[in-house]
Amino acid sequence: MTPAITPAFAAAVNDHTLMQTDGFIDGHWSAADSGATFGVDDPATGEIIAQVANMGAAETKRAIQAAQRAFGPWSARTGKERGAILRRWSELLVANVSDLAQIMTAEQGKPLAEATGEITYAASFFEWFAEEARRCDGAVITSPTADRRLIALRQPVGVTAGITPWNFPAAMITRKVGPALAVGCTIVVKPAEATPLTALAMMELGRRAGVPAGVVNIIVGDDAAAIGDELTANPIVRKLSFTGSTRVGKLLVRQCSDTMKKVSMELGGNAPFIVFDDADIDAAVTAAVVAKYRNSGQACTAAQRFLVQRSVHHDFVSKLANAVRALKVGSGTEPDVNVGPLINDAALDKVRAHVADAIDRGATVVVGGERHQRAGRFFQPTLLDNVAPDALMGCEETFGPVAGVSTFDTEDEAVRLANDTPYGLTAYFFTRDNARVWRVGAAIESGMVAVNTGLLSTAEAPFGGVKESGLGREGSRWGMDDWSELKYLAIAGL
Ligand code: ADP
Repeated sequence: MTPAITPAFAAAVNDHTLMQTDGFIDGHWSAADSGATFGVDDPATGEIIAQVANMGAAETKRAIQAAQRAFGPWSARTGKERGAILRRWSELLVANVSDLAQIMTAEQGKPLAEATGEITYAASFFEWFAEEARRCDGAVITSPTADRRLIALRQPVGVTAGITPWNFPAAMITRKVGPALAVGCTIVVKPAEATPLTALAMMELGRRAGVPAGVVNIIVGDDAAAIGDELTANPIVRKLSFTGSTRVGKLLVRQCSDTMKKVSMELGGNAPFIVFDDADIDAAVTAAVVAKYRNSGQACTAAQRFLVQRSVHHDFVSKLANAVRALKVGSGTEPDVNVGPLINDAALDKVRAHVADAIDRGATVVVGGERHQRAGRFFQPTLLDNVAPDALMGCEETFGPVAGVSTFDTEDEAVRLANDTPYGLTAYFFTRDNARVWRVGAAIESGMVAVNTGLLSTAEAPFGGVKESGLGREGSRWGMDDWSELKYLAIAGL
């Protein structure tokens, strides 16, 4: 059997105390009750790089109980005290960015530069919520009668749970743990089975930052349903925040209904990327590369449907083709790589199926279209043109480095096509017309709209979707709302 950490992987990281392979319950690193482990592989090679504790329902239950014990003392601290711990944790993430990026690239595959960027982005949520912790304000409400005072208190919901995906192994965790801790909640986190090592490394830094025992617990295991069943059925847990697929999100909302938990859901998208004829085409091409090929297209915000106005179609496609041909494919640790491997074989199969389906329905291949000649999970950065609206890649996320273009004639048609989906997470559009910015920005059914840019996520702004893309918002000054309850106090007889 592979050792807990393979020597090659260990050599890439300076601080070996960040290479944890056990879960974290009540302030202690804990093996699975059964002693069992599961393998985590490097998507670039398929080789197992670590064996991680394979926890299940019993360990999850203990973590929930630890979070319950920790809740009273933690929520009793001042926001300023809780914020100070979050700030230290944020600073430790930044100070250890190079080791954390190595760990992330090893288990997730993204280029080191992107992993480094994600750690900085992840740290920004702790920094932001460290500041917000001091502003968990309620309100004094004007009373309709003279003898009463009406108060709205903002209180933490209690013990919470977070279930996170593998595509952003650090930031999807800090976006939940940050507001949870700021408000005074405690939390049990279940990272994705493909990327537990980043979560555990961050937890080690949380321990060093002074997060008290039981306030943050990490359950790792490859039986997501067993862990998820306990997190959703246990009545102690008062809120679940999930980032992942719409399919699993719907299942978890159903499971949470029996105990009426609060739920936040950051689910899949089907982002339109509209290029109007008055757009700066070069800027649109630069943004398209970021919005589509970053993280090998494995982002819920990834541009999925490129809709280009007919008169600029040729210009956009030929310039984007040049940019896509220039992308360098390789392992995330190689210098200057733009596009790493896909997370697993199933992801590769899905991308191949989407491309084959689009071609069957009349799409033409402008660049790529095949598996990369490199063995393993690499797919060529691909550009398809004339993709039919009913092609699979028009209806669901491809989660791969494949852009599909189709054309439109009028603004109304573009908006209709953009909204013709059950999803509504991110939308992108390019125009130089200010009136159109407001018109289309308002008309698109989407939680987030990026105008003349390919990147919009930031801790300061509300991240989240509408329709089947989810419920709730993460980050921003509204980011603590989902983790708190408003308690109404009516004080009578004054
Ligand atoms: P993806 O398709 O991106 O892997 P998933 O929705 O399958 O997205 O996974 C997101 C997270 O949800 C991961 O942590 C995964 O382990 C977890 N998950 C998957 N199925 C379940 C389930 N039945 N119950 C709880 N968590 C689940």
